[in-house]
Amino acid sequence: MILKIKCPSCNIEGSLSLLEPDYEGPYRCWKCRGLFTLKIVANEVKSLTPLTGEELEKQQEELKRKQELEALKEKFRRQ
Ligand SMILES: [Zn+2]
Repeated sequence: MILKIKCPSCNIEGSLSLLEPDYEGPYRCWKCRGLFTLKIVANEVKSLTPLTGEELEKQQEELKRKQELEALKEKFRRQ
C-alpha cells in the first residue's frame, strides 16, 4: 500500500509505503526536509503535525523497541 502524503509546509506530495492500514510515526518531507508526526488510520491520513528533533528521537526509539519485540516474537514462533 502506497500512500500519498502532502507536506503541510511546502505542499509537495511524497509517498509512503505501508505494511499495515494504521501507522503512527515520523514522516520526513523529501523536498523541504521538514519533520512531522504522521498518523494514519485505515489508510487515511488523520493528522500530520510538525515534529521536533527530540520528539523524533523518542518516536524512533519506540519504533525500534516495537520492531525488536516483534522480531523476538517471530523468533519464538518459529521454534
Ligand atoms: Zn515539505
